[in-house]
Amino acid sequence: MVSIKFLGAAGTVTGSKYLVRGAGKCLLIDCGLFQGERSWREKNWDSPPCDLAEVDAVLLTHAHIDHTGMLPRFSRLGLRCPVYCTKPTLDLSKLVLPDSAHLQEEEAEYRGERGKSRHHPPLPLYTVEDAETVLRYFRSVAVHERIELFPGIFATWRRMGHIIGACSISLEIGGRCIGFSGDVGRYAVPILKDPEPLDCGDLLLIESTYGTTEQHETSPRDELGKIVSETAQRGGVVLIPSFAVGRTQLLLYYLRELKEAHRIPDIPIIIDSPMAADATQVYQSNPADYDDEALGILKRGQHPFSLPKLGFVQSRDESIRLNKIDQPMVVISASGMLTGGRILHHLRNRVGDPRNTVLFVGYQPPGSRGAWLKSGAQTLRIFGQEYAIRAKVKEISGLSAHADKCELLRWAKSCRGRPSKIAVVHGEPEVANIFAKTIGDALGVSARVPAYLEQWDV
Ligand SMILES: [Zn+2]
Repeated sequence: MVSIKFLGAAGTVTGSKYLVRGAGKCLLIDCGLFQGERSWREKNWDSPPCDLAEVDAVLLTHAHIDHTGMLPRFSRLGLRCPVYCTKPTLDLSKLVLPDSAHLQEEEAEYRGERGKSRHHPPLPLYTVEDAETVLRYFRSVAVHERIELFPGIFATWRRMGHIIGACSISLEIGGRCIGFSGDVGRYAVPILKDPEPLDCGDLLLIESTYGTTEQHETSPRDELGKIVSETAQRGGVVLIPSFAVGRTQLLLYYLRELKEAHRIPDIPIIIDSPMAADATQVYQSNPADYDDEALGILKRGQHPFSLPKLGFVQSRDESIRLNKIDQPMVVISASGMLTGGRILHHLRNRVGDPRNTVLFVGYQPPGSRGAWLKSGAQTLRIFGQEYAIRAKVKEISGLSAHADKCELLRWAKSCRGRPSKIAVVHGEPEVANIFAKTIGDALGVSARVPAYLEQWDV
């Protein structure tokens, strides 16, 4: 008997984790943190969904926090087993897990000061020490190799684009085969290889983040070039709130191309985020995931992410000093959703100057500071003060790391073997339900959105 229990990303986008039992073993596939809506976030505090000491291994598709961010919590609560993932995922996890822990500790401190904690004194969900403990259990696996985790239990990782190191996983257990898509990347985008097919077997779990969206073929590079050039001509600064992993490297890749083609002036490009700098290092040191074009750049003796006048800012003091510079430049900083981080002091300093541009390159949820800025607001509240918005506010779409509806179907159809069932996961309920119908019809198999904590026999 093989069973799977949906412990997250079931009827929601975040918290990916699935418990598989079979052949006398208990495996956890991904171990993500719930993010976003409060009702889901509160589930991060629930008692563990199983006896964590019982778990024999964790298998990770990729390093994003909504796929890995509960590992330190579970480790704190008794998880003691190997965590298998690709090498770039291991490298990135060494950055994102301690960073996530750091944010948890800061939040606990904040709640303590405001008296808003349910614990007295306020506790973080986990600490940097918990993150460091669980990282010691990480083991890297080779892509494409059928790895025998336990006698008769095999797992194979195959590349998925999305971010560096991201893979799907085929798990063979108790005579059954389960395919986990992880997050499906886009086809024909720079840097990473296209999503590779997997062996679907008996059950396929597929993500559905953009399961109802058809992304228009835009040319983010051209738009980026235009915005940077126009801002530089005005003598202004382009301020880009960006995710540290994936999005920043894609921006660097495009900016390098634009500089090489002399389509933007040779102005400084500043990465003001230690996490983004470290993530770029991980991208640089793992070329096995690169597509032919990126490999071609390496062969020419160049580097996909190096460009003239590129600077990485580490310390907070250096970051603050950037405020004094009054000349055209591009500043890429975190957080991507303006929820915190250094981007806030840059905004405060630059948003009132009509020469500057605030450029959004990622999703800004409704009600967020980013959405407010994009809506054409006149003022912006930062650190309790109102600032007049005189800078231009622009947005570039087409930089998402997630497959759209057509690409999800293209990938599912490319997989070897037709699954007997499909579980549509990792999507807002409405989107996931529509996509379940779409993919069920397209592949002629039963497809359904599992409920949170539902268990299926495989
Ligand atoms: Zn992801």
